[in-house]
Amino acid sequence: MAVIGIDLGTTNSLAALWQDNKVTLIPNALGDYLTPSVVGLDDDGALLVGKVAQERLISHPHLTASCFKRRMGTTGKIALGEQQFSPEELSSMVLRKIREDAEQYLQQPITEAIISVPAYFNDNQRSATKAAAQLAGLYIERLVNEPSAAALAARMSNTGEDQTFLVFDLGGGTLDVSVVDCFDNVIEIIAVAGDNHLGGEDFDNLLVDYFCRQNQLVYSTLSPATKAILQSNAELCKQQLSEQQQVHMFLRLEDQTYSILLTQELLAEIFMPLLKRTEKVIQRALADSNFSSIDDVLMVGGSSKMPIVRGYVNRLFSKAPTLTRSPDVIIAEGAGIYAGIKSRNGEIRDIMMTDVCPFSLGIGAKNDRSDLRAHVAMMIERNSLLPSSISKYFTTLHDGQTSLNISIYQGEEFYADENICLGELNMPLPSAPAGVEGVEVRFSYDINGILQVEVSHEKTQVRKQVVIIGEYNTLTEEDIQQKLAELEKIKLHPAQDEQNRLLSAWGERLYTESLGEVRENIVRCLGYFNQALNSQRPHRIRQARKKVTDYFEQLTQQHFIGNRQPSDFMPDTDQGDEE
Ligand code: AMP
Repeated sequence: MAVIGIDLGTTNSLAALWQDNKVTLIPNALGDYLTPSVVGLDDDGALLVGKVAQERLISHPHLTASCFKRRMGTTGKIALGEQQFSPEELSSMVLRKIREDAEQYLQQPITEAIISVPAYFNDNQRSATKAAAQLAGLYIERLVNEPSAAALAARMSNTGEDQTFLVFDLGGGTLDVSVVDCFDNVIEIIAVAGDNHLGGEDFDNLLVDYFCRQNQLVYSTLSPATKAILQSNAELCKQQLSEQQQVHMFLRLEDQTYSILLTQELLAEIFMPLLKRTEKVIQRALADSNFSSIDDVLMVGGSSKMPIVRGYVNRLFSKAPTLTRSPDVIIAEGAGIYAGIKSRNGEIRDIMMTDVCPFSLGIGAKNDRSDLRAHVAMMIERNSLLPSSISKYFTTLHDGQTSLNISIYQGEEFYADENICLGELNMPLPSAPAGVEGVEVRFSYDINGILQVEVSHEKTQVRKQVVIIGEYNTLTEEDIQQKLAELEKIKLHPAQDEQNRLLSAWGERLYTESLGEVRENIVRCLGYFNQALNSQRPHRIRQARKKVTDYFEQLTQQHFIGNRQPSDFMPDTDQGDEE
């Protein structure tokens, strides 16, 4: 049975698999490779996932959710209308759609996947991702770090020479930088560094701020719909500027039009604070790796398409960064190749991938009775090669102390309580003077991200063990059944409706974003399309869909980006009845 690789992105998700000795991207039901990681409810309560939901972000913000990957691993709930969902439930809906579309395309059931996550994801975020997969009916043996997946894909497509890569992955919500060494058939992740809150959306926010400042608009006083329009215009202009030298950004509000002219130079100025933040992450990864030279820089993630970002990273290295031919898809390709390795498929079976622990792990300890707060006694340092197993001896601090409490922490802060506490173990001890009795603590962190902590006392032969990462927080069978029953109450539309729903959602968004004559044209357009749908004649529906799509494309180009008035929509007089 096929195992697929899935890049579950903040903005888009996509799937790939290893087939006929190469990696192949799997198109969704609309024929696209990218499925927007957006989930929504229709006006009649049915579930919408992907592009259709994305189109409704502006016209139906209260019924639509996006960017929930940023909230994975938290207990926060996200509202869709009257209903509340956890970030992993929303992610499971995206995964389920990817799985169902892949099943349709491959004509076979899919029950297992490799999912990529940012290298900097902590334990809670990883567990939430596994829970989302479980809810989507996917068995996940392991998660793969996104930069590791990218390096694997690059490695498979280059000449196979020994090389050290710096993988710079700037997506919609996160930045991951990794130093990856490739030699013989080994791909070794040497160091990872990242920022969980630096991505394309932050660039959009800066652009929105700048736009408001220049036009004397106060962002906080704008309506939710206007905010969403501004956000989407900012993103569109940012993307246009990856292709062209300058672009106008507009906002039409009541009877006024606000605008600014954006050039590459201006954009570089506006984005400078974020560019500087990317440099810090690069420096940390390089310093941790102890590598003085890098052979190649791999630019990955949608935001790496920005010339300003490429130029900035370029100046930091003597060599021009490689914009891989597909910064959007390289992680999914890597996950697909990894899925192939996992199923011991064909010629790729002998590639070995090593990984590193993305965060430091230790226990809370005091050196001295006068210490008021416990610090972290390091067990496994950030960027240690996996698997890793380390043991240390800890003794009592007080005379007559009859137990030792071992608290396990993850993070980089000095004081224990400023890190994430993963669990605790308590070991009873015979009473003795301070420093006489003690325990052996062993941390074993395996390649699947499962941390085992074992505490043993030699004299009494008492041994206690806790398994933390990987199984902690994942759902029990009972939880899954209960949550699945709840999720099943939400109807799914049949796949064949998706294209039509997409077009209606697109029209509604354009309507929300426009005024006057343009609106009237959109109303005419949607009326014409609904008539075609009501006719239930496939040929007529196809014809209307094409005509309306062309018109909406023209509208987007001329009305929202350029400053020209689009032509009127002319419905066909011939309604094309015959099939
Ligand atoms: P990812 O999570 O890798 O899919 O990246 C999504 C982010 O990349 C979003 O913030 C997009 O706005 C941004 N993005 C996609 N294409 C482009 C482009 N051509 N130029 C600039 N940013 C882009």
